[in-house]
Amino acid sequence: MPFTPSSIRHFFESQIETWPLAKENYAALTQVQIREIHLNGFDCPICIQHNPARIRSTAAKVDAASLSERPCFLCATNRPEVQVSLPIADGFEMLVNPYPILHEHYTIVSTQHQPQTLKGCWDAMNSVIDQLGDDYMVFYNGPHCGASAPDHLHIQAGRWTEVPLIKYILTNREKFAKGSSWQENSCAPLGYAICVENRNNSNFYSQFGDNDDVNVVLVHDLVIFIPRRKHRPDCFFATNDQRRLISPGTLDMCGMIIAPDKEDFDNLGAEEALSILRECGKWQQPTIHVGIVKGKQIDSTQHKDYFTLRNVTIGVNFHWQQLEDQHFKGKLRIVPEGNEKWAINDILLEDYLTSVVSSEMNAHAPLEFLKAHAIVSRSWLIAQLERKRMPPQITTKIEENTSGENSTSDNTTIIRYYDRDDHTLFDVCADDHCQRYQGMSRITEAASTAVRDTRGKVLMFGGKVVDARFSKCCGGKSELYETCWDDNPHPEFSSVADCPEDASVDFCDTHDDALLSTILNSYDVSTHDFYSWKVNYSAEEISRLVKEKSGIDVGTVTALTPLRRGASGRICLLRIEGTRRTITVGKELEIRRLLSPTHLYSSWFYPSYAEGFFTLEGRGWGHGVGMCQIGAAVMASRGYNCAQILAHYYPNARLECIYD
Ligand SMILES: [Zn+2]
Ligand SMILES: [Zn+2]
Ligand SMILES: [Zn+2]
Repeated sequence: MPFTPSSIRHFFESQIETWPLAKENYAALTQVQIREIHLNGFDCPICIQHNPARIRSTAAKVDAASLSERPCFLCATNRPEVQVSLPIADGFEMLVNPYPILHEHYTIVSTQHQPQTLKGCWDAMNSVIDQLGDDYMVFYNGPHCGASAPDHLHIQAGRWTEVPLIKYILTNREKFAKGSSWQENSCAPLGYAICVENRNNSNFYSQFGDNDDVNVVLVHDLVIFIPRRKHRPDCFFATNDQRRLISPGTLDMCGMIIAPDKEDFDNLGAEEALSILRECGKWQQPTIHVGIVKGKQIDSTQHKDYFTLRNVTIGVNFHWQQLEDQHFKGKLRIVPEGNEKWAINDILLEDYLTSVVSSEMNAHAPLEFLKAHAIVSRSWLIAQLERKRMPPQITTKIEENTSGENSTSDNTTIIRYYDRDDHTLFDVCADDHCQRYQGMSRITEAASTAVRDTRGKVLMFGGKVVDARFSKCCGGKSELYETCWDDNPHPEFSSVADCPEDASVDFCDTHDDALLSTILNSYDVSTHDFYSWKVNYSAEEISRLVKEKSGIDVGTVTALTPLRRGASGRICLLRIEGTRRTITVGKELEIRRLLSPTHLYSSWFYPSYAEGFFTLEGRGWGHGVGMCQIGAAVMASRGYNCAQILAHYYPNARLECIYD
């Protein structure tokens, strides 16, 4: 005969009365501190509970040896005599959890000592939630996903009103469990994937085998699956002040983080909390919004699995500019801007990446290079999406300090750095301003393989996806982020010598035309001077350039003095002295812009002056931060694999697969 919510409640209250330990711990729970945290970019809040009594569970050793040594605290023979049970489901009995997180917290244990599996308790979970009714949730921790007794089959139950994610799902019920497949019902209200199904017709539980890495919640008519990537976050195992005693189970993954340690409770920030949960959960493959074309009229046709845009201009401003029809996967949205319309393509990141790697890279480039590039591009893209989640930052900073007018000795300082202007209606555009994207039109087998083989893999540092920059040729030493963009420390990058261990010739010091033509767009084989180069200007030429590009007339340039260099040697602060005035300019790209009709190859140069001429002797092509494309291609051609290439250019980052 099934129990009713009130008979279960009565069982709970009588147990509390007879068991001093439980009584004390439930009384203590009413005193615990709870802090609510709002995550940037997510509607659902989370909270952190300071719960010292949970230290036994949080720090529990769950390796096979430790488990076999300790008496199982869920077996009837080892339970305290005072602990009573309720035969709530076939082969399961209900206990009051003496170390609660929820104000009414039950453990429902198998009458047999047998390993934790979802299949083994699925029927019991359904039976228990039917008896408990609408105020309760029943939940399951996979054996490696928060279960402190993975050797003894058990589930838990309690009131859901205190649990942020469950509250959020039930108050936005219409948004969830709308489709019929796992993919259709997946979403990421807290930045990691969950799947919400109708529990009465769910077959999804059967896909989890005996080593099911998942947290599961049953509530109302729903089942919520939270697939897991890790049992515990790296910070759990740290030995320094980075250590956080947080070991997420179902409740943590539902936005209720348990911190037994007061210091963690006080100091855990929103982004750190999110990182911990995302490290333990699986990410969802992002959808990228790509602005394809803008026009008065968008000529499109929807087919079964794709859509076609007619008369798309390709090769804008190139001699081969032409119109063609292009085909796209994903969805088409038409969004008005002024009196024109944008065709925006919402496409899964992996499909987008396959297309851009096909367009940007030659199919004959070494496969391991293409794979490394796919991972770098994926990391960069996800980092850009993450940046959009945060409050807007100033990415172009201009400091102009002018001291005194009409003086020849005044010194104007111009510090500018450029980051890609964010588009407002979409994430990236389809032309070279962002990355060239031509839909399904030019997919190469090589690019498909490179993307498929690295699916979901990104560079991670400190719980975040690395904003993985790359440039054409580092010139022998890679540069630090701060030299080129904002001043905030970016410890995910370091300056690397771009050479093999024997310190012989630098990887990017190559004249291999065949290889170079496979990795550089419209490579001109006569351009050999990217590794080391020399530029000569007459004093008049350089004076005119500076005036044109900076808008400041310094008179005739008399001296160029590097004031500060980055780790590679790239100048980030340069003094330009003229007969009228002196200016100081930075950073890297601004210097390159000022001293060339287009852009100097790099700001790593050594200026000299003789007989009316300035000579700039330089190294490298591009900002030099992160991967050196030419060096990476050379490494791949010499047999280094993609993991080795990435470890070389991003030695501080770790390669992780964040989604399936
Ligand atoms: Zn047991
Ligand atoms: Zn763009
Ligand atoms: Zn290099």
